[in-house]
Amino acid sequence: MIKRLIKRVFGKTVPVRVAGAAHVIPFELHKVSRDGISYGARRVTDGLQAAGFKAFVVGGAVRDLLLDRQPKDFDVATDATPEEVKRVFRRARIIGRRFRLVHVMFGEETVEVSTFRRAIDAEDAETDEHGRILRDNEFGDQEQDAARRDFTANGLFYDPATQEIFDYHHGYEDIRANTLRMIGDPEVRYREDPVRMLRAVRLSAKLGMKLDPATAAPISKMKELLSNVPEARLFDEMLKLLLSGQALPCIKKLRAMELHHGMLPMLDVILEQPMGEKFVMLALQNTDQRIAEEKPTSPAFLFAALLWHEVLAAWKARQDAGERPVGAMHAAMDEVLDRQRAQLAIPRRYDTVMKELWLLQPRFEQRGGQRPLRLLALPRFRAAYDFLLLRCQSGEVDAELGAWWEEFQHASDERRNEMLLPDSGGPKKRRRRNKKPAAAQAELPID
Ligand code: ATP
Ligand code: MG
Repeated sequence: MIKRLIKRVFGKTVPVRVAGAAHVIPFELHKVSRDGISYGARRVTDGLQAAGFKAFVVGGAVRDLLLDRQPKDFDVATDATPEEVKRVFRRARIIGRRFRLVHVMFGEETVEVSTFRRAIDAEDAETDEHGRILRDNEFGDQEQDAARRDFTANGLFYDPATQEIFDYHHGYEDIRANTLRMIGDPEVRYREDPVRMLRAVRLSAKLGMKLDPATAAPISKMKELLSNVPEARLFDEMLKLLLSGQALPCIKKLRAMELHHGMLPMLDVILEQPMGEKFVMLALQNTDQRIAEEKPTSPAFLFAALLWHEVLAAWKARQDAGERPVGAMHAAMDEVLDRQRAQLAIPRRYDTVMKELWLLQPRFEQRGGQRPLRLLALPRFRAAYDFLLLRCQSGEVDAELGAWWEEFQHASDERRNEMLLPDSGGPKKRRRRNKKPAAAQAELPID
């Protein structure tokens, strides 16, 4: 099989060495040069090999290099124990309790080094009642380390010294055929760790790889297993997905495979309302674009965007029931966050920024007196304004409002004075101006 592939590509046979259970793909074939490996990862593999250990660059980095993409980071796998690794390098520390890894530091770069480990058979392993493996911290050999990985494309070992790739599961051919395929029996592997279903969707969308049919097939019937995964782990996976640079295709694919229910519980509700869907899709597209342009993206902004239409709906319902706008907004925000938190652990550390973004939205409507200038001076103005633009683009608010703020923020003092609308605050507002400065919330439309 592999020989056929080689023939087709080069018109001649390049020998592929077989070492134990691995095919060893030479540089002439894969063309990934040692220069593509980060400085730190090269230092780590060189150092470990000089000390007599095996050491390879593994996982996503090898896959990305074969796909001509820039790896996010470089991980190393070795047969040295964490203590042995630590002894080889000056700046290294052992991290993790469940499975100990070593972080080796070179200036800005940190290389994560893991000792080969093996998957424990579901029968021997400690599992929950659905078969999810709770502990898998046994050392193993290189072949076992390949087998415990998720996809064949993620199971390759690259040796920077010889520039050879060790391939135990035909990952090289799969990458060449642009296919993401689970190592082993997909059903068994999803049962052991349901997050692999999300990884399948995320990686195939992010890398533009097709999911092997046998890898995709069990997902629809096994998706319920995601509800047993600890919230914090789901949240981490959701964040990776949203910040992958391909959030929009990832969410579309999750939805097509009906996996979005477990991920962000309200997402199904939001995506069913045409306005909500449009807004969420625009927010995701906007994030992807920012990542492509290497601009910073904030998870709080994204979560605020994903939940905005829920907040709007709750806010409106409360106002319709007679609550006053400011109080209703505060109650609506808490209501939405609590509901969301019950299922997906959006950490509380994002609450402040999310709430601030939401609370500032109504203030864009106020274009009289000194209020626009005060809004402009707030540290969070820029993010809140970006949020407003998404609302304009989605058709929720008039595009004229966004255009007004675009002009206002860049205008001269003179022009700003012309632009300010007559203060409609009435005598009540004028009286207040002589008192202490109003608090942020008091600037919401009061009546
Ligand atoms: P990314 O580009 O998003 O970082 P990645 O494949 O490098 O993708 P990581 O989460 O960094 O993803 O994981 C590194 C490697 O660890 C993977 O390539 C894979 O070999 C292995 N791995 C990660 N998660 C799992 C899992 N749930 N089950 C089995 N192997 C996994
Ligand atoms: Mg990675």
